[in-house]
Amino acid sequence: MYLSKLKSGIKDFTSSVQRIPQCLPDSHCYLCQQPTQRLICEVCEQDCLFFNTPVLPDNLLLWPPIKKGLVSGRYTSVHACSYYQWPMDHLINQYKNGHPQLTQTLADWFVAYALPSDPFLPDCILPVPTSSWRFARRRYHQTLLLANAIGRRLSIPVHANWASRRSFQRKQQSLGRRERLNNLKRAFALSKDPLPSRVAILDDVVTTGATAAALSNMIYSAYPETSVALWALAITPAKADPGALVSGQIRQQRVLLQQY
Ligand SMILES: [Zn+2]
Repeated sequence: MYLSKLKSGIKDFTSSVQRIPQCLPDSHCYLCQQPTQRLICEVCEQDCLFFNTPVLPDNLLLWPPIKKGLVSGRYTSVHACSYYQWPMDHLINQYKNGHPQLTQTLADWFVAYALPSDPFLPDCILPVPTSSWRFARRRYHQTLLLANAIGRRLSIPVHANWASRRSFQRKQQSLGRRERLNNLKRAFALSKDPLPSRVAILDDVVTTGATAAALSNMIYSAYPETSVALWALAITPAKADPGALVSGQIRQQRVLLQQY
């Protein structure tokens, strides 16, 4: 009698323990650490600051403070979610350093906050190539993962091997503006695969725009008819303007209003 009660007690306990994970949230929010089913909870997403479009132009290159901070190249438009500042800097840093599970969330944010609701989409996405030593260190190519996730959302193909990055290059910091561009030009090689008429170069962060300028100039030399857009999660501002940003909650409300 006692033994059978003990056995049934153990059975109940075991089945309760097995059910615990189903009752608990899958993870904690990357920003506020509160338990949530999502990687970034809804409250944090609504509190995050994104570019205040359509008050700002959808094409950020038409907005002087952004244009002024970027090295000009053969790209004709720039789309990004926000400045490279909290929380985007934290999320992108995490994403690049061992947290590829953020791919889908960041891709969803790009589609929701960087692109207009009826975007004029490119024919393909070109992720900025990574060097083999960076790939060996990270064990994933974060920009390619991001491109694939955005491509799936928008039904656009991704050209993964459109260019390659040579491992050796001189350190950019010690070089002047023109030398930097030449150095970057030597750092990349275009593949022989033809490109369609509209492409989007995708990078995680655009700092000076020198990489995009070098790559878009190379594309222009090989395919003068191809128009190049620059897509990124975030832009490092020359001088951040807080008035350029608005909360995720307001951006979401604008989308809802457009639907009615
Ligand atoms: Zn949160």
